[in-house]
Amino acid sequence: MSRVKVLDTTLRDGEQTPGVSLTVEQKLIIAAALDNLGVDIIEAGTAIASEGDFNAIKEISKAGLKAEICSFGRIKKEDIDAAADAGADSIFMVAPSSEIHMNSKFPGKSREDVIELSVQAVEYAKERGLIVEFGAEDASRADLGFVIELFRAAEDAKADRLTFADTVGVLIPEETENIMRELVREFKIPIAIHCHDDFGLATANTIYAIKGGAREFHATINGIGERAGNAALEEAVVTLEFHYGFKTGIIKENIYDTAKLVEKLTRIVIPKHKPIVGEYAFTHESGIHTSAIIKDSSTYEPITPEMVGRKRQLVLGKHAGKASVQEIMNRLGYKADKEQMKEILTRVKEIGDKGKRVTDADVKTIIETVLQIKREKKVKLEDLSIVSGMNIMPTASVKLKINGNEKIEAAIGLGPVDAAINAIKKAVAEFGDIRLVSYHVDAITGGTDALVDVIVQLEKGDRIVTARGARTDIIMASVEAMLEGLNMLI
Ligand code: MN
Repeated sequence: MSRVKVLDTTLRDGEQTPGVSLTVEQKLIIAAALDNLGVDIIEAGTAIASEGDFNAIKEISKAGLKAEICSFGRIKKEDIDAAADAGADSIFMVAPSSEIHMNSKFPGKSREDVIELSVQAVEYAKERGLIVEFGAEDASRADLGFVIELFRAAEDAKADRLTFADTVGVLIPEETENIMRELVREFKIPIAIHCHDDFGLATANTIYAIKGGAREFHATINGIGERAGNAALEEAVVTLEFHYGFKTGIIKENIYDTAKLVEKLTRIVIPKHKPIVGEYAFTHESGIHTSAIIKDSSTYEPITPEMVGRKRQLVLGKHAGKASVQEIMNRLGYKADKEQMKEILTRVKEIGDKGKRVTDADVKTIIETVLQIKREKKVKLEDLSIVSGMNIMPTASVKLKINGNEKIEAAIGLGPVDAAINAIKKAVAEFGDIRLVSYHVDAITGGTDALVDVIVQLEKGDRIVTARGARTDIIMASVEAMLEGLNMLI
């Protein structure tokens, strides 16, 4: 089966997501992660757009990555010069192709003029040593005959690839496939597709484009991008490989870490139920599901979480069954008789019925209460003080009692919660590498005096536990959650 190329535009179209702005350093970090992920082309920004974008492309081009580094640009000399001066390998250069776009971008100019400007731009970019990916912007609302004419001129001017851009996301899959078949018949150079998700069809259209003969697609991590976003790289790659047997260069095991990195740096939170990378994509709650999953994961999972660099999670709630509680009992090394088991299950469901998420630490407390196990907590908080303010780096000092021994540590952080967590992490460093996988805060009531509910996920080796802290003081709630989790792991 043919190899399909991936152009990742997280750093260009993705950065055009409302509210997203990345620094040069952040772009470098993401570019390195994309290279590790195995994308073929990194569209790193628009060299002409700003000094920051220019510098980012320049730094990324110098970073010695395997991927081709690309700058976005218009069919204008200054855009091409900026891309070449920044040291990019290639330019993704777009010409308006629909009447709406031609009229707004080149008022008074005819179709012939746009073709002429495109030819000049492609020739000039080639002179400047750039690989040219020539795109027809808003092609899905343009006259296809004209798009073909435009592409013909670009191919004759020695463009290297041609991109059909569904700029406003109005394509449907069958139409996409037909258009691609026609373009592939017409041209010798590779055809690429660029899709947007305005109707939730970006991934489907991308797949159908490849089915129709396109050999490159544009996508972003987590599907971020203008308006409703672009095609999500992780969805397109997994679908193409799993359902259609196409090959990409993507190392799928690196997908999740890359997704979380992009989430963190762009601050665009991944929806919980998002395919492949959402928190719940490999999480199971209902009792019937979890008991089957424990026996054979394929009963309720089409692909394994490990395939995309993740771990399965079983969550307890009002649907909890015996099997999931038994699983936690086994993990903790406890045994219960039939009556105790029934009681544990009833109490777990009670929390779930209140609409609360049942954490591992909640279950542990319930189990120990029912089994009447009195266990000294290994890690106890003896003292905590925080200094935070306007011209000061937030600093926390903690006094913990760990297995009876006193331990005092101090740390700084980006905020008081971060400082407190850092100090605790330092204090328990001797117990090995414990990683805070996620941190989630909910205000249960409305005001500034609200009870806040903090849920943390901690990881040690291949174990992940969840724990909760609920207080009116967000720092104390965070510390409480952290200590609950630590007591389960240590
Ligand atoms: Mn776009």
